[in-house]
Amino acid sequence: MYGIDISTGYCCHPKNRAIDSFIIKKSATMRPNVIKPIAIAALFFRRNILSNYDYDLFVIGAGSGGVRASRIAAQLGAKVAVAEDQQLGGTCVNVGCVPKKLLSYASHFSEDFHHAVGFGWSPTQPLFNWNTLIANKNKEISRLNGIYGNLLENTGVTIINGRAKIVDPHTVIINDKEITADKILLATGGWPFIPDFPGKEHVISSNEIFFLDEFPKRLLVVGGGYIAVEFAGIMSGLGAEVTLSYRGSLFLRNFDNDIRENLATEMTKKKVNLSFNTNVSSVAKQEDGALIATFENGETKEFDTILYATGRKPKLNDLGLENVNIKMNPKGTIAVDKYFKTSEDSIYALGDIIDGPELTPVALAEGTALANTLFNNNPQVVDYSNIPTAVFCSPNIGTVGLTEEEAREKYTHIEIYKSSFRHMKHTLSGSDEKTFMKIVVDKDTDIVLGVHMLGSDAGEIIQGIAIALKAGATKKIFDSTIGIHPTAAEEFVTMREPAT
Ligand code: FAD
Ligand code: NDP
Repeated sequence: MYGIDISTGYCCHPKNRAIDSFIIKKSATMRPNVIKPIAIAALFFRRNILSNYDYDLFVIGAGSGGVRASRIAAQLGAKVAVAEDQQLGGTCVNVGCVPKKLLSYASHFSEDFHHAVGFGWSPTQPLFNWNTLIANKNKEISRLNGIYGNLLENTGVTIINGRAKIVDPHTVIINDKEITADKILLATGGWPFIPDFPGKEHVISSNEIFFLDEFPKRLLVVGGGYIAVEFAGIMSGLGAEVTLSYRGSLFLRNFDNDIRENLATEMTKKKVNLSFNTNVSSVAKQEDGALIATFENGETKEFDTILYATGRKPKLNDLGLENVNIKMNPKGTIAVDKYFKTSEDSIYALGDIIDGPELTPVALAEGTALANTLFNNNPQVVDYSNIPTAVFCSPNIGTVGLTEEEAREKYTHIEIYKSSFRHMKHTLSGSDEKTFMKIVVDKDTDIVLGVHMLGSDAGEIIQGIAIALKAGATKKIFDSTIGIHPTAAEEFVTMREPAT
């Protein structure tokens, strides 16, 4: 009411709670202009002089979730420290979303140069320089690391460079120094998982691909998830001869089947060699540095680089979990309640190390919710329904809600609307790339359950559609929305005839 809520925050220690209630009682009789300075002084006194711990919150990991939780907690008045043993910003900023998207932009130019000819530009064969791209990317990432540092410092968060380990429920050790905290947040993210096989030491993960000294002319990508399809597209667009080997019959398990099939068609048109139902059994390195991959069917093939994109596992090694009582999920993630509390009362966990989608906006939402729960007297849970996601493959996938297959399992009457068309741009570019769109509707309620797209800017388009789904939009509302012409996105409001 007076710009500061003195009743929130330091609910941690009984001594603090007693002081809180004293301040609240006293403040009830004070004038508004008197109360704010007194409250601030009281908080300062209590936080810095009376607290039993060095910090109210000690965060391990300055990635998407850890930075967000630290920053908001500090803004709410908590005394916060965050430990990071690599670069600020975590996976997303350093070896994930951001550099990946920059490389994805780079890869699209090859098609653009080619497409430009149909629009009257003279044919051109520009040379691509991988080292320039990586150097420019590194410069941008350093800039972002600096921004993250400023963001934290400006809100009063103490940044500690080093690897933190839990000693007991209120103590961590970092750089040989023990630090105490009322609450500890684990936000240590994930790490690439590579299965064991002879020659494993010769392959790389997504961590390394961003820093290769030389551009691989022949690349094998193993896996069929987000990272595999994204890097197959990126490296192929940049000029590599790419083979994608996936152990199943079609990549991107859990995505809508039509999207998966259409992507396979489009990637094949773009000359990515898709090798399904295959798996590498061993890799050998030759004297000239070339890698020979032997597949389970006995085939062998030579590559310059082999990228394993076979999933990620929570980064929990040497974190001191054995020193506390933290329960794990069967998948190896940390078990938490809906407020991200582990089975150890003072320890919380979020982001990629708990169950749920491994996506930056999810970790961010969890960090915000946790800070508000702990320090704003405002318990918040995250709503995990209708989380949109994009795969930055070529062409992009954007998707939100249920796939057709999921919807058919959960609902009795499903209506499907589909459209496949050549983007207007490609009428002159000469490309035969097809855009594919799909709407999944519950026929009984007319509610749109899922929307899926394969085509340029699918992520940008689906982000807007996700708002409609979150609002519970019906197909009728889609139909009554006037399109923006001429766009590809207008197709989402003009599909009238159900396919099934
Ligand atoms: P992280 O961001 O991984 O941060 C954890 C931090 O903790 C790291 O900086 C780590 O160094 C630090 N740490 C770990 N242990 C310790 C310790 N003991 N002491 C100190 N510090 C420690 N998501 C999207 O939404 N969109 C995308 O386009 C996207 N692209 C991706 C591309 C790739 C190649 C990868 C690998 C991931 C991508 N993701 C994407 C996923 C996204 O990066 C993660 O979901 C997100 O970063 C998870 O955030 P987090 O806070 O849980 O952990
Ligand atoms: P995914 O879980 O998406 O995919 C892992 C792939 O590896 C699956 O195809 C899986 O096959 C396969 N695989 C697993 N184990 C083996 C094995 N032993 N041998 C052969 N193949 C195996 O993981 P990623 O590494 O691609 O990405 C990790 C996470 O990061 C993603 O799930 C996503 O949440 C996030 N991410 C998000 C991005 C975005 O938002 N655009 C981009 C990149 C990553 P199967 O399906 O058969 O199990």
